Amino acid sequence: MDFVIDESKCTGCTACMNICPKKAILMDTNKEGFKYPVVNNKKCINCGLCKKICPVLKENYLDALNKCYVGFNKEISELINSSSGAIFPIIANYILEENGVIIGATFNEKKQLKHIAVTNKENLYKLKGSKYLQSDLNDIFMYIKYNIEKNKILFVGTPCQVAGLKAFLKNDYHNLLCIDFICHGVPSPKLFEKYIKELEHKYNDKIINYNFRDKKTGWSNYSNTAIFKKRKISQIYKENEYMRLFLSDIALRKSCYNCKFKLGNKHSDITLGDFWGVKKYHPEIYNEKGVSAIILNTKRGEGIFEKIKNNLIYKECELNEIIDGNPSLINSSKDNKMRDEFFLEMKEKTIQELSKQYLPKTNSIKKGITKIKNKIKTKCRLI
Ligand SMILES: Cc1cc2nc3c(=O)[nH]c(=O)nc-3n(C[C@H](O)[C@H](O)[C@H](O)COP(=O)(O)OP(=O)(O)OC[C@H]3O[C@@H](n4cnc5c(N)ncnc54)[C@H](O)[C@@H]3O)c2cc1C
Ligand code: SF4
Ligand code: SF4
Repeated sequence: MDFVIDESKCTGCTACMNICPKKAILMDTNKEGFKYPVVNNKKCINCGLCKKICPVLKENYLDALNKCYVGFNKEISELINSSSGAIFPIIANYILEENGVIIGATFNEKKQLKHIAVTNKENLYKLKGSKYLQSDLNDIFMYIKYNIEKNKILFVGTPCQVAGLKAFLKNDYHNLLCIDFICHGVPSPKLFEKYIKELEHKYNDKIINYNFRDKKTGWSNYSNTAIFKKRKISQIYKENEYMRLFLSDIALRKSCYNCKFKLGNKHSDITLGDFWGVKKYHPEIYNEKGVSAIILNTKRGEGIFEKIKNNLIYKECELNEIIDGNPSLINSSKDNKMRDEFFLEMKEKTIQELSKQYLPKTNSIKKGITKIKNKIKTKCRLI
């Protein structure tokens, strides 16, 4: 068994698995919890298609329109249920009204994140919201291939997943619209599974859903909320151990530290993100329930924006204003030197132990320590 390419470069996009004419490639989960294509040498006929198709091995930098907007959904209920300015649901509703299909990421009953197809508005809620772990594409590229002539399809995924889909399909289908997002990187699904199991054990209750971007504490100061059968447990993201591990870059897929799909090599029609610099550049568009950065990369993306723009409060803006608050649009996350050690210890230690060992102290913990120190000082003075 061989890997198709170096583990540190492979994004797990599944293009090679899907293209193989002998079904000699399977996606296998490694010790860190990420899926990689492994080749069954007994079935492989050395046709080389897998390497030919791999988007990571191509050096094709694309011309993009780079037309930029700052804006948010006029519908407050949509804003609350999405991560940023709820642009995704507006576009998805438009495609559904055209009898199209929406493909995005959702949790199954086991809390595993998978890409699925949604064909009606009633089920669109399943796809809303960012989930901060790598989603499993399964054989969704094949589903798209077999349906793309019949239906409009909106595919939403990481920039590398979109690049994988485009490489696999080879042809440009006018029925296909692709949205990606400004991407910080994807943490290990195994880490999230561990986190969920420990929470369920702690509260002796089953988790039925998990919201990574609960806006009840605001858009910029969002919470993580675990929805159990009998209760809800919320924490501001800065204090949530899973989010802190994600944002410390210790648990990302290796390819995310040298990502090939930043600005200049985007294969999507539209790129979405949070417009973190909105207060600085466009305070009149600020909304504490969420504001999006919208980048139109192609004429097709521009065409769709023209169709849906009346559902938004929006304004044209500069690319540099988006980059200023969102370096992930152009730069990869920095490799955390402790990453390999972290993954070696992940199985044995609890999330709390891992956080203690690998994360810097949060401000609230620091404040707590200072309070205790001050109390001790006052007591000493009194004695
Ligand atoms: C792993 C990850 C990292 C991100 N990093 C950044 C960042 O650094 N800066 C930034 O500005 N924005 C980032 N985003 C994007 C941001 O969180 C929002 O998803 C985006 O702005 C769209 O918001 P929305 O309100 O329009 O739509 P939403 O309703 O939030 O829709 C999100 C869409 O993304 C899909 N999706 C959710 N999770 C995943 C996943 N894990 N893999 C593939 N598809 C998924 C959903 O199916 C849905 O279609 C990231 C998102 C993810 C999932
Ligand atoms: S095609 Fe995708 S899954 Fe296959 S080796 Fe390349 S990056 Fe990895
Ligand atoms: S950072 Fe790059 S390699 Fe990692 S998930 Fe995002 S697009 Fe893929």
